[in-house]
Amino acid sequence: MPTSSFTSASSAVPCPVVESLDAILPEEPLLMMGAGPVPIPAAVAKANAIVINHLGGTMVKVIGQVKSMARYVFQTNSKWVLGVAGPGSAAMEMAISNLAWEGTRVLSIKNGFFSERMAEMGRRVGARVSTLDVADRAVASLEEIAEAIRRERPEIVTVVQGETSNTVWNYHLKEIAALAKAAGALVIVDAVCTLSTMPLEMDAWGIDAVITGGQKGLSSIPGVSLIAFSDAAWKRVKGRTAPNAHWCLDASLAENFWHNAGYHYTAPVSGVLALHEALRLVCAETLEKRFARHLKCSLALQDGVAAMGLRLYAPEACRLNSVVGIEVPDGFSPADVCSHISRMHQVEISGSFGLPIVRVGQMGEQCREHNLFRTVHALGRTMVDLGVRVDLPAGVAALERGLSGGK
Ligand SMILES: *Cc1c(COP(=O)(O)O)cnc(C)c1O
Repeated sequence: MPTSSFTSASSAVPCPVVESLDAILPEEPLLMMGAGPVPIPAAVAKANAIVINHLGGTMVKVIGQVKSMARYVFQTNSKWVLGVAGPGSAAMEMAISNLAWEGTRVLSIKNGFFSERMAEMGRRVGARVSTLDVADRAVASLEEIAEAIRRERPEIVTVVQGETSNTVWNYHLKEIAALAKAAGALVIVDAVCTLSTMPLEMDAWGIDAVITGGQKGLSSIPGVSLIAFSDAAWKRVKGRTAPNAHWCLDASLAENFWHNAGYHYTAPVSGVLALHEALRLVCAETLEKRFARHLKCSLALQDGVAAMGLRLYAPEACRLNSVVGIEVPDGFSPADVCSHISRMHQVEISGSFGLPIVRVGQMGEQCREHNLFRTVHALGRTMVDLGVRVDLPAGVAALERGLSGGK
């Protein structure tokens, strides 16, 4: 008797038994207060649920608006703004792999985990990467940077604006860019955790490539990122002789979609729509007001944490505001704190790649007063629950003083 191959053959790989998302996800969503991804506004979530044609008039209009809003956020008049299907790291790789190749001299100012990632990406495209290794919890002085530039004669300098891992802020960014420019180098800035949370002026500061992710300062979804190249950087991209080994990240191919209404790969349309809404909300708020909101919220959070009796990791002079590092009390691991606050208080915060800290983000929607009260309270209660002596009421009071302008 003939048998149907569909019904009788037993599959070599059996169909797995899985749980539904409803069974896996918590009934009440966790408040995302770690180093990203961050909560998204309703308009972003709504846009992310839509699929449209990735080519054609509607998409062209969306892309045009995304680029013009991104120019505002990057503070650049450069034409060369592009989106990237991928995480912030894909945007980093797009910058490096288009501007550097076999033998390119790259100087990477290495403040920690993420700035090292950019150096590693440079090595992988065959660049001759030297690093300026900066001590943990510190920034390099301009003298050290000038000396490294003289020594290494880089064609490209890479630097992170906010080193999310150890929560250090490279506050000399403008001066670093000027030093690199004076030596004839292009400057790539990783602004993944800082863009739209603090000033960054691509044109005025002479930066040649800026990259950001969706899921941090912009409060969009993870997986769609942005990059901007200066005219000088774009000229280098166009002038290279060997093609970029990364086909998806090839800026010349991406130009087809992002500037010529053509096809490169199928764009993550929902994510681009989400990014459009995130950028629109930034524009509606204005950068000035957004920076002020981030600054006020982050400083109030820092005051609250310190008043409670916990120690902040980065010294004040180079402390990053968009991600706040908090020392974990002796006898506990970051995982102890993160798991307790998540399980008992439904608040997610982050550890940090082996450092003895937990990190609370202050990016986009995380900088809302109600989120801060809940987070400071949850952190304080977690400490109390773990048996750490903290003054939780003092922490909440300091937070309130910070948010209400010290009154
Ligand atoms: C988060 C982050 C990255 C990496 O972004 P992904 O989206 O995780 O790839 C790179 N640099 C900095 C400064 C970051 O904060």
